[in-house]
Amino acid sequence: MDSKKRSTRAHCGKGKFPTGINLLRDPILNKGTAFTEAERDALGLHGLLPACVCSLDEQVERVLVNYRRKTSDLERYVYLVNLQVRNETLFYRVIQDHLDAMMPIIYTPTVGEACQKYGHIYQRPKGVFITTNDRGRVAKVLRNAPCADVRIIVVTDGERILGLGDQGANGMGIPVGKLSLYTACAGVRPSQCLPVTLDVGTDNEPLREDPLYIGLKQTRVRGELYDELVEEFVQAVQEVFPKALIQFEDFANRNAFRLLQKYQDRVCAFNDDIQGTGAVALAGLYAAPRLAGTRFADQKFLFLGAGEAGIGIGDMIVGMLVEEGLTPEEARGRCWFVDSRGLVIKARADLNAHKLKYAHDHEPVADFLSAVETLEPTAIIGVSGQPGSFGQSVLQAMARFNAHPIVFALSNPTSKAECTAEEAYRWSDGRAIFASGSPFEPVSHNGKIHVPGQGNNAYIFPGVGLGAIVAESRLITDEMFFAAAKALAAQVTDADLAQGRVYPPLANIRGVSAVIARAVAAIAYERGLARREQPEDLMQDITAQMYQPVYQSYV
Ligand code: NAD
Repeated sequence: MDSKKRSTRAHCGKGKFPTGINLLRDPILNKGTAFTEAERDALGLHGLLPACVCSLDEQVERVLVNYRRKTSDLERYVYLVNLQVRNETLFYRVIQDHLDAMMPIIYTPTVGEACQKYGHIYQRPKGVFITTNDRGRVAKVLRNAPCADVRIIVVTDGERILGLGDQGANGMGIPVGKLSLYTACAGVRPSQCLPVTLDVGTDNEPLREDPLYIGLKQTRVRGELYDELVEEFVQAVQEVFPKALIQFEDFANRNAFRLLQKYQDRVCAFNDDIQGTGAVALAGLYAAPRLAGTRFADQKFLFLGAGEAGIGIGDMIVGMLVEEGLTPEEARGRCWFVDSRGLVIKARADLNAHKLKYAHDHEPVADFLSAVETLEPTAIIGVSGQPGSFGQSVLQAMARFNAHPIVFALSNPTSKAECTAEEAYRWSDGRAIFASGSPFEPVSHNGKIHVPGQGNNAYIFPGVGLGAIVAESRLITDEMFFAAAKALAAQVTDADLAQGRVYPPLANIRGVSAVIARAVAAIAYERGLARREQPEDLMQDITAQMYQPVYQSYV
């Protein structure tokens, strides 16, 4: 028995290396039927497994046979999540090899339905739930986490899950799903990932009244108590997992901007709904004019929705336009917003600080179509969660004054998209440059196949996180997201554009993430934010650290 091999395999760095049934119950170490005879001898596994010793490939085949037998996406989700809590290596091998098909299952859109029904499909806990009852002992709760060397925490309070609103503690599906993407898309070790849900109650009454709801059955705690819990959580992370990055995820508008502002310069933290979305949309919007034969600096953007996603994207566009030579004022003048109360203009008295910077001098305009007709934008960006709002008239208007109208319908899940890919191509006579938040199948229009781009945050956050881990960065800065967007846009090839894609194929995602990680880590080193010594070859260092879903020998 080689105990050295086993201790270096670092069973999450916690406790003794397990044997027997405890080993089979450890998702990071478990190999199931792939344990060899020698391992079964050494680790007390005889009798606990059937006689057959399978290879990883054979196990993958068994998973696929079972997976294909499922009749709904939710069943596929449940099957994969159960595989994940049983055997992470096998789970990631399957996901990584079938990312295109399985990302919509482990993440949007299926994860949205899974969150809505989380209490009903719940089987085995994953992640850490911190409730308002844990005030005063949050560090202790974090120490119960199964891993000792956590480097990435995705945390939600469940108040704004995708476009589905308040899902309370059911929101846990989101951190779990996002962290799976960190591993699948960028090779962050599963043992370094920790999903966290801050359960402060829910204002979703039907959910509270559901007997199978898993969270605190109380209305949301707000104000000082809420802020104190978040503060205690952030401080506890610094104490228990000092190298961990905190990703704020799916917090409602009222808290998301505030918390980002409060923590961004203090600890290693970012908000994916604001910064990640901003960067991924910017990358697509930067690549789109190459396809249209125009320049990014000449675009005019009209948003439907002025929330976290909209303002996040607007801020990134402004940064890029300034780099292209516009003044900040000119750049903001290129970004127009319509929210639930109409066009965002100076005369409105109801605007918060984030919208105010995009309030221009203009007559009131009540609806989106009128705004399109009046402003004649080159690009429309849907981040409102209002399905069908890019209707026939809007798309035809865009096609009237643009040779290649840029149409980004980013609202998630699919049911919330402002228009479908098919509608965008049909009503623009095949001329639209289309991207969406959730995936759409390729569309055939007048004999041409158009491949819609998916402005999925998974193109950005895994690479950003990996870069931060590699450099052990003290902070995540806006500059890093900007660099990530540019690195992503640069990887869109002419062949991608020829198919209508403004993002690289998902199949290339690990390579894409590595390039983004290099750009992010380089900034950490340049700005003196890194806590780890700079390696000679940054790219080589990054790829060497990326997790591969293969079994290691324990004997
Ligand atoms: P949010 O709640 O912060 O903002 C929603 C905005 O939409 C608000 O400004 C609201 O006023 C506006 N709105 C609502 N109803 C409207 C109406 N009828 N007409 C005009 N405006 C209206 O939410 P968010 O975080 O900004 O997310 C918005 C959507 O974007 C969600 O569906 C989310 O899933 C999606 N999103 C997509 C991506 C991506 O594709 N990469 C990333 C993040 C968010």
